[in-house]
Amino acid sequence: NTEEPWRPFNRSRVYMADLESALHYSLRGEVAAHTVIKGEALSSLKKYISVLAKYQKHFHYFPGRPVAINLLRSVNSWLQNQTGDEISYEALREMLDNSAQTPDTALPEGERWVGCQGSQPHLRRYPCGVWTLFHVLTVQAKNAEGKDPLEVLSAMRSYVRSFFGCRPCAEHFENMARESLREVTTLSSAVLWLWSRHNRVNNRLAGALSEDPNFPKIQWPSPEMCSACHTVKGNGEHSWNNEQVLAFLLSYFSSSSILTDYLE
Ligand code: FAD
Repeated sequence: NTEEPWRPFNRSRVYMADLESALHYSLRGEVAAHTVIKGEALSSLKKYISVLAKYQKHFHYFPGRPVAINLLRSVNSWLQNQTGDEISYEALREMLDNSAQTPDTALPEGERWVGCQGSQPHLRRYPCGVWTLFHVLTVQAKNAEGKDPLEVLSAMRSYVRSFFGCRPCAEHFENMARESLREVTTLSSAVLWLWSRHNRVNNRLAGALSEDPNFPKIQWPSPEMCSACHTVKGNGEHSWNNEQVLAFLLSYFSSSSILTDYLE
């Protein structure tokens, strides 16, 4: 909707409105493209929702408002109870609609992008929200001392493979996962893996048509955001200080740093 007013925001913060909007579009838009969900897609969806609904050691993997957490829990228990070979999207939609009738259980009715606003309606928004959501999930899994370092990334991988609307993106992401996901052996390396693959994508897309001119693709975070993350060697060659990058990511995407502006 081009009429939407611009929402001023801080470019170096994460907004809950973007995380909730990403969930909304994922469940009501992207998954809805499948009339029947079965086989690999059904197991992908179950894995994805169970990661989103997970709570461990006082950490919600999706660190949202109680209403959103309640919704994810209901969807998760409903999905885990579906023992047949397939479900229809219609049944999932009904489930989402019915849950929304229950007090204290809801996702927003629509999308409201803030940190992921684009200068034009076809720029940023959902893909930006997906990256943000998955960075937050890897950080929450690290905080919650999750047992399986690959839990979040493999849920993300299979969600993207089964559902992500941009098919070339899904293919690129699958190639990166196939190539190096096995190198992830700790929760910290999972956080760093997603960061470094996201930078590879940024590198590939810099200057492409999908780039919002007001949000140029950079090797992130910029030296202005985290000077300690960058090391410049004597010969002028740039390298990352991974320890500092990790500390930066853990703080940047932590639930206590997420801003709640513009929520209903
Ligand atoms: P995004 O790249 O979406 O990033 C969102 C926000 O995350 C940024 O604003 C910044 O605050 C932060 N950020 C940036 N870099 C990093 C980082 N390295 N680590 C942590 N946080 C960071 N588009 C294509 O055209 N071709 C593709 O092949 C493609 N593959 C994709 C694969 C996946 C899995 C996803 C989720 C998206 C893909 N996209 C692809 C979309 C593309 O990556 C961007 O999401 C889109 O162009 C919008 O860009 P953006 O400016 O909002 O920033």
